[in-house]
Amino acid sequence: MSKRDYYEVLNVSRNASAEEIKKAYRKVAMQYHPDRNPGDKAAEEKFKEAAEAYEVISDPDKKAQYDRFGHAGVSGNGRGGHSADMNDIFSQFGDIFGEDVFGSFFGGGGRSRGGGRSRGARGSNLRVRIKLSYEEIAKGVNKQIKVKKHVTCAVCSGSGAKDKTSVQTCGTCGGSGQVRKVSNTFLGQMQTVTTCPTCNGEGTTITHKCSACKGEGRVYGEETVSIDIPAGVQEGMQLSVGGKGNAGERGGANGDLLILIEEERHKDLHRDGVNVAHELHISFTDAVFGSQVEVPTIDGRAKIKIPPGTQSGKIFRLKGKGFPAINSYEKGDQLISVSVWTPQTLSPEEKTMLEKLQHSPNLQPQPEKSDKSFFDKVREMFG
Ligand SMILES: [Zn+2]
Ligand SMILES: [Zn+2]
Repeated sequence: MSKRDYYEVLNVSRNASAEEIKKAYRKVAMQYHPDRNPGDKAAEEKFKEAAEAYEVISDPDKKAQYDRFGHAGVSGNGRGGHSADMNDIFSQFGDIFGEDVFGSFFGGGGRSRGGGRSRGARGSNLRVRIKLSYEEIAKGVNKQIKVKKHVTCAVCSGSGAKDKTSVQTCGTCGGSGQVRKVSNTFLGQMQTVTTCPTCNGEGTTITHKCSACKGEGRVYGEETVSIDIPAGVQEGMQLSVGGKGNAGERGGANGDLLILIEEERHKDLHRDGVNVAHELHISFTDAVFGSQVEVPTIDGRAKIKIPPGTQSGKIFRLKGKGFPAINSYEKGDQLISVSVWTPQTLSPEEKTMLEKLQHSPNLQPQPEKSDKSFFDKVREMFG
């Protein structure tokens, strides 16, 4: 199924401010809210689609990825996606619209969230740098990296409680995680629903905390994360691996792991976007007689033919030997700039031989015979 453009989903311009995006999301979410469209599957899909769009374009990092690479830039194994869980969506609303919006808009009662309560706080995002060689970037690579972070406590499985009997239903809210307040206003009675202050919306309190994690449900540890890096990534790009950041508190959602791409320098090749440049030094005699030489590429070595009479500065193009464009079948080229090596030390015998040639008319520069002007070459190199 092809996805609609996120900006189109929320009906905002690409330059919309954070406030405008929030407003737009609110409008769409209200329109398709399940309480207003009971049993309407199409509305539910639209509702989820809006939540997914909002999750991406309200997050500056994800928005930048999306603006650059479209859906491919943010899909990953990320949260959101069409698998978005309705309860996750509802749990966002508190932050976006204020806790009680839907409770009071849709006839009170509040929406039950995940069986009546929200879970502990979400874990924070983590950012790691990964350095990649040109060869790895050319083909794409799987990296196993060790990440030091908060992981779910193995002793209590993240509940934060010493044992099952230590988890008690919250006495203040009776387990719903929310408390209702009725207040009299000049418009009549208004009912508002807010997060229970005793249990912070979790619906339960813990009498005896797990000693391993001190009740937090998570401990500081390490996890090896497997990351598939697509071919063609570039220095400065950021990939997001959903749910691989810090573990949340007491079963709360995990943060994301953000991967910042760095490029390793290559001793023979220089990257320029999808193209690769290489400076090839050849001997004076190879330039005169022609030769076949090997050059390094990002995909092993390649042979190229140097025709007789090749000038210094000549550029050869190896079509398709550059980097792949990310998420596309296009490939760049390798440009090989020839540099004729002028000998710096000579034996007396060599010196005598070359002196004989020094004034030969054939050895005098004849730039008008060169196949391309200097400016054409510059244009080719950078164009
Ligand atoms: Zn524990
Ligand atoms: Zn409570």
